[in-house]
Amino acid sequence: MKAAVVRSFTEPLVVEEREVPEPAGHQVLVRMETSGLCHTDIHAAHGDWPVKPSPPFVPGHEGIGVVEARGDQVDHVQVGQRVAIPWLGEACGHCEYCVSGWETLCLQQQNSGYSVDGSHTEYALAHGTYVVPVPDGIDPLDAAPLTCAGVTTYKAVKLSGARPGKRALVSGIGGLGHLALQYATIFGAETIAVDITDEKLQLARDLGADHVIDARTQDVAEEVRRLGGADAAISLAVSNDSFRAAYDSLNRGGTLVLVALPPEGELSIPVFDTVLNGTTVTGSIVGTREDLVEVFRLHQLGRTRVVRETRRLEDINTSIDEVLGGKVTARLVFDLR
Ligand code: NAD
Ligand code: ZN
Ligand code: ZN
Repeated sequence: MKAAVVRSFTEPLVVEEREVPEPAGHQVLVRMETSGLCHTDIHAAHGDWPVKPSPPFVPGHEGIGVVEARGDQVDHVQVGQRVAIPWLGEACGHCEYCVSGWETLCLQQQNSGYSVDGSHTEYALAHGTYVVPVPDGIDPLDAAPLTCAGVTTYKAVKLSGARPGKRALVSGIGGLGHLALQYATIFGAETIAVDITDEKLQLARDLGADHVIDARTQDVAEEVRRLGGADAAISLAVSNDSFRAAYDSLNRGGTLVLVALPPEGELSIPVFDTVLNGTTVTGSIVGTREDLVEVFRLHQLGRTRVVRETRRLEDINTSIDEVLGGKVTARLVFDLR
């Protein structure tokens, strides 16, 4: 089988031949159909974050495929069933986070494509309890981006307090942002989209953004305040400057949800204004298995549109260059069939 492997943080990935692994215990073996390229894979391959993965490893956490075999401890997932392999590869299942609906904060978690091998491969191992069934009728090419970009922004929009009568700012209309915009609309908010390429700004208009701001030529906070200010802001742009612009766009009582993770990402905010304005600044990491079930259900109902282009796994390095060069419509998905 083919697998895309990060051998070092400073070299291109290598697509190499490997033995198809055997599932043991709680594992399932998944014959991959599609795998989305999240910007997180690029941070992983470059060792961008304080906690680094250990090369060699296989990135990928927007994996969709069919269960081919299962370990002797798996009985609720069937051979032949289509499943998603998300970032939350496995959690302990019994800590205070796991039992209170916050499994994504479990300290014992393993992350697909980071601490354990992920989905940019023809066959992947995954924990049978943490894969999420993909409902019939969802195209595997759509299901892939929903598995991280979708679930992450669905959760972030939930946390942001976006609702009818409120104004929500979505900063960065990439893989995550194009779905964030749709969830903010589903939650009933008036939406403001920000990006730095003409194509992304046009995409935001096509997806029904109420307002669009070009961060190259416009002062984001000034423009948002002119529109009446944002009650919720979701930071999805891989750019440090964009965080402060989103913070400065908030109305009193507003919430800034930090999602993007640029290398050495930092946000400096004034204590006085934050206190007097009653501002909330929160981080948000992916979403739970239940959030992903809800994301799939919304898509099955036709409420969301996944904008994606397909690539071959062999093209992973040029695909990374395309994402970094801002040349991708929204999401690239490897078609592994
Ligand atoms: P992407 O590259 O597809 O999208 C980023 C977008 O930001 C692009 O459209 C780009 O044009 C835009 N942008 C760049 N600079 C900007 C600026 N100054 N103002 C406005 N927009 C700007 O990336 P993605 O896959 O959507 O991921 C975004 C970030 O989210 C990455 O850092 C990724 O690691 C992170 N992420 C976090 C989580 C989480 O759970 N917190 C989950 C997935 C991804
Ligand atoms: Zn991701
Ligand atoms: Zn736990």
